[in-house]
Amino acid sequence: MTHSENTYQQSSRRLGQYLSRKGMRASVERQAVLRLFCSGKRSWTMAELIAEAEEEHICRATVYNAVRVLTEAEIVEIRKPAGIHQTPEYALNETGQNHIRMICTRCKRETELKDTGITRMVSEKKYRNFVMSRFELTVYGECKVCRKKQRE
Ligand SMILES: [Zn+2]
Repeated sequence: MTHSENTYQQSSRRLGQYLSRKGMRASVERQAVLRLFCSGKRSWTMAELIAEAEEEHICRATVYNAVRVLTEAEIVEIRKPAGIHQTPEYALNETGQNHIRMICTRCKRETELKDTGITRMVSEKKYRNFVMSRFELTVYGECKVCRKKQRE
């Protein structure tokens, strides 16, 4: 399974859970828009999404609706560009997906850890009377630099 396929399946499951919680139906069009976000392209403007969706005969209003739902479900986030007159971009919400941080208790340096094993375990777990939207995990310890300083 490719990375993007994995991301799509994970996001698709989260979308399904979000929709059923809201009593909304899953639609082929929303799935298609979600698939665009998981295609590997980092971020999209609304115009780019509309142009791409048109290829699949999905109308503009449906794209707007799908992006709104995906944003509300915290699967997609809006990235506001630096300039005021720049168009906003939409991208997969990485922090909403798998956030594992390591913090050094001495120098407070923070690094992000990608661990698909842990991510999958937490994401695929069946929670009793609970639907997960995202998770955070913080691992505390001492970084290499601080450990080296300690020994000197
Ligand atoms: Zn440190």
